[in-house]
Amino acid sequence: MTALYFIETRPHFDHSHPVHKKGCPLRPSEKKCKLLGPFKDGNDAVMEGLKHFHSVKGCLFCISNRPEWLKRDFGEGNAGKN
Ligand SMILES: [Zn+2]
Repeated sequence: MTALYFIETRPHFDHSHPVHKKGCPLRPSEKKCKLLGPFKDGNDAVMEGLKHFHSVKGCLFCISNRPEWLKRDFGEGNAGKN
């Protein structure tokens, strides 16, 4: 089952652009979002978002299942690095 996903056009304090599922209460108004389109899950929507912005992340509220490569990029998989 697919859902519509949006990306915030204004970056957050960490310079990333959050992706939201339609209906997410944390999604800003339509004017501050760009429609990415229908995707089967949040990971696909984030991949699409990376075509528009350099730094993209799934909203922690509506997209919690981030792929492993994205966790690595954000340092969550580097616990043993130091
Ligand atoms: Zn959201």
